[in-house]
Amino acid sequence: MEKPLVGLLLLGLMAEPAWAQTDVTKYVRYSVRDRISYGVLEDEVIWELAGDLFQSPRTTGRTVPLTGVELLAPCEPSKVIAVGLNYQSHLGEREPAEHPGLFAKYPTSIVGHGADIVMPPDATDLHYEGELVIVIGREAKNVPLAEAGTYVFGVTAGNDVSERAWQRGDLQWLRAKASDTFGPIGPVIVTGLDHNNLLVQTRVNGEVRQSERSSDLIFDVETIVSYVSRYVTLMPGDVIFTGTPGSTRAMAPGDVVEVEVEGVGVLRNTVVAQRAR
Ligand code: MG
Repeated sequence: MEKPLVGLLLLGLMAEPAWAQTDVTKYVRYSVRDRISYGVLEDEVIWELAGDLFQSPRTTGRTVPLTGVELLAPCEPSKVIAVGLNYQSHLGEREPAEHPGLFAKYPTSIVGHGADIVMPPDATDLHYEGELVIVIGREAKNVPLAEAGTYVFGVTAGNDVSERAWQRGDLQWLRAKASDTFGPIGPVIVTGLDHNNLLVQTRVNGEVRQSERSSDLIFDVETIVSYVSRYVTLMPGDVIFTGTPGSTRAMAPGDVVEVEVEGVGVLRNTVVAQRAR
């Protein structure tokens, strides 16, 4: 009962929490003592929210220190869509496509900050792909480009984990892209950022492997949302991986992969080998 009282006291002292006074807000989803909640992160303290994150949640007044929780993936998407070949640095000599190249991952591929990336026993060429990830805020169908930005709730960091041998050899990219744990996102969703001009950086065991700005995206955030919504109804909490810059390399069990998006923070995951049955 101690923490709720502290939170209520703080609420009483301030007309409104500091986070309510700014457009840039960091949202987390977390577990503490087996209870899962959404919250607003402000200076290492989480303000608990009640209700649906995408439908005017309200603060309960309870707070908990960030160090006292397990962070989960910051949302629970019904769909996970991804754009391929969306940076010239990743395309190399190839010409950009006329439209965003789309593929799907599964909601079961989604894990949060700190979770393991589990390498299936027969995976031989498992790569990281550091990416800016769009989080949809409201239902979107046939959205005109000029309005697409109003359907974006915020952004997070993501790792579009990809098994290259399967990507080359399989009929579709299902195993290569949508296997369990192949979609880490987090640690937070941030609203109010200039999402088309953020630094996206990937480090493996501390060594920088990818570093480019989202201003280099061939198809920007609004173009992607508008285009996807022509074909697929996007729901609140759905996520879209926007593509990876530069080149990628294979990961091995024990590798620590960090994807940092400017304004979002660092998404850190460790590669582990799945035991063969
Ligand atoms: Mg990708």
